[in-house]
Amino acid sequence: MKKLKGLLALILCAAVCIPLCGCDTIDRIFGNDRYGDGYYDDNYYNDPYADNQYYNNVPQLVSHYIDVGQGDCEFIEFPDGQSMLIDAGPAESGKDVVNYIKNLGYNKIDYVVATHPHTDHIGGMKQVINSFTIGKIFMPKASSTTSTYKNLLEAIDKKGKKVTTTKAGTSIFRGNDSSLSVKVLAPVGNNYEELNDYSIVLKITYGKVRLLYMGDAEQISENDILKKNYDVSADVIKVGHHGSSTSSGQSFVNKVRPQFAIMSLGAGNDYHHPHNQVVNRWIKAGAEIIRTDECGDIVLTTDGDEFSIDTEKGG
Ligand SMILES: [Zn+2]
Repeated sequence: MKKLKGLLALILCAAVCIPLCGCDTIDRIFGNDRYGDGYYDDNYYNDPYADNQYYNNVPQLVSHYIDVGQGDCEFIEFPDGQSMLIDAGPAESGKDVVNYIKNLGYNKIDYVVATHPHTDHIGGMKQVINSFTIGKIFMPKASSTTSTYKNLLEAIDKKGKKVTTTKAGTSIFRGNDSSLSVKVLAPVGNNYEELNDYSIVLKITYGKVRLLYMGDAEQISENDILKKNYDVSADVIKVGHHGSSTSSGQSFVNKVRPQFAIMSLGAGNDYHHPHNQVVNRWIKAGAEIIRTDECGDIVLTTDGDEFSIDTEKGG
């Protein structure tokens, strides 16, 4: 039931948003002409055969990149009905994040990942913890002296939950689908100067489709990931640190080579994110940029073979 609700919300959003949207990355589907009906690389939602044959029969993974202004928040609906939240934006977006996930039909979040203890990632998390049944909570081995961080730990404790400390090479997902994997690629080290480099970096693979989530990992962490020889190639990356030049080093970008680089940030932010050289680096590597400050919420849907991306509004 919760899955159905999620899909209904998605279809409704697409129906409303596509005609209005100026973000040129939406309304395409990447892969083969599944039904042989000539809708190859065309708007999935215009395909009269798609609704019945595609959505209803094939388990979907849906990755929501929720617009939280200057911050990060991703919610993933797994094909088996489980769900994962990666960060929850700043405190002021906590309510919106809760409503977004509830509107998809979820009362439980199986996996909560706080990539690192900065307020633009964990600020909204206390409200999430208080609003849902929570499965497991993952954080890196890094702490902060901020009240936001302390309040979050208190909320977790009050809920009777424990934090599982996570680092590269560990597993955080349990499922029976061999075509689905969630790998932790970072933090590799345990002695970084910058809190950002402790960010939990995740690679989700569903069938042929590979999605990378960087948190705020900077180039030092990227280089550690590369030294480990982890496979970072991906179709879609949630770019590290809101498109800052501290992240997305050339050697890392060369290895990822995504079709899409998603940047989560607020319009007119104080940090001037995204930095031009980073935007150009991803474009040069063959990626199209999609930004939450221009496109609002971004929703990727995949059956493990093809994927489509829808955005809330035009840029
Ligand atoms: Zn951040």
